[in-house]
Amino acid sequence: MTATLPGLSPETALHEDLMERHSAHNYHPLPVVVAEAEGAWVTDVDGRRYLDCLAGYSALNFGHRHPALVAAAHRQLDRVTLTSRAFGNDRIGPFCAALAQLLDKDMVLVMNTGAEAVESGIKVARKWGYEVRGVAHDRARIAVMAGGFHGRTTTIVGFSTDPDARGGFGPFTPGFDVVPYGDADALAAAMTPDTVGVLLEPVQGEAGVVVPPPGYLAAVRRICDRAGALMIADEVQSGLGRTGHLLATRSAGVDADVYLLGKALGGGIVPLSAVVADEAVLGVLHPGQHGSTFGGNPLACAVGSAVVDLLADPAVLTHARSLGRVLAARLDELVGHGVVAVRTAGPWAGIDVDPRLGSGRDVCTALARRGVLAKDTHGATLRLSPPLVATADELALAVDALAAVLADLR
Ligand code: PLP
Repeated sequence: MTATLPGLSPETALHEDLMERHSAHNYHPLPVVVAEAEGAWVTDVDGRRYLDCLAGYSALNFGHRHPALVAAAHRQLDRVTLTSRAFGNDRIGPFCAALAQLLDKDMVLVMNTGAEAVESGIKVARKWGYEVRGVAHDRARIAVMAGGFHGRTTTIVGFSTDPDARGGFGPFTPGFDVVPYGDADALAAAMTPDTVGVLLEPVQGEAGVVVPPPGYLAAVRRICDRAGALMIADEVQSGLGRTGHLLATRSAGVDADVYLLGKALGGGIVPLSAVVADEAVLGVLHPGQHGSTFGGNPLACAVGSAVVDLLADPAVLTHARSLGRVLAARLDELVGHGVVAVRTAGPWAGIDVDPRLGSGRDVCTALARRGVLAKDTHGATLRLSPPLVATADELALAVDALAAVLADLR
């Protein structure tokens, strides 16, 4: 089989072959097989080092194996890792209290993956709609955004506008109204008396780091208030420092009713997600109505508490914002030199490469050869989301590599 993988080392080819034959083909990874990682860097099975500018799709905001997070995990591994929600554990309470306090909300519903947080947010919004708003049984609607990405469950892909994400997976859950992102008038027009919530990413990550027009999130807030609907901010990717702020919504001066968190909440060590809201909303859940075997396990909560501690240090976000300024300035220099447009939100960038130079994947493959890992999103758009612990020099190295790749392709 290795003959089908020219140019790869025997070790890399072995892993590629095993994945090709035995791992479902739901991803199309670059031929880089990571064996170790530390901070902003990963090392492959052949000992080559790469700067990780994808950072686990923002799950590794604090870099690989952050010492404080690894230490928290080790300490917890030596105590207890999983109980059962049939009993209490001494980690979930402190974690929920700390996260709720960090976000200035009352309560946390702990789950595992980002998609589960979104599903849970949808369930909570519907139940709130029936019990608090008085919407007629089974009539609740939720407005969602075209181009949005919220995960891969059947309900979530059912309201996706990406044909690859939804094709072949129907029938889908009803009750969603898709509206254009960034268009407050369209949202206002789509609200119905049965609309219980508006679910949106404050910055659309998978769509290519699409930042909405100024004033849009505040307009969404006003529309929700007028309609008596919950504003549900999916900050699974945009939250916890990715934009240089704790929450992208709050950085626009807007407070959502419900925050959905995931990815970086688990420190790149464990899957950990959360729905964070006030008791008036999350209080609609009663025993037996929602749950998860692993949700709230002590290992995840111990790591999550350490993540909250990191985020409470203002230096983390200050550094992230300064990285964002460096990234924006350096990437802007590439516009007109192989780059058509750049969008940034802190150290998070969507880069539209001139499609005449090649696909996003071509660019990412060439970047990997130069020791930088990045990911294409759609067509010729790349996303850079380096760990927040990277240095300005490391970001400069990534942008230099991109400039060199684009020059080679021109
Ligand atoms: N929501 C957003 C905004 C995301 O970007 C993602 C994943 O990329 C998800 C939800 C789903 O998270 P997970 O892959 O952990 O289910």
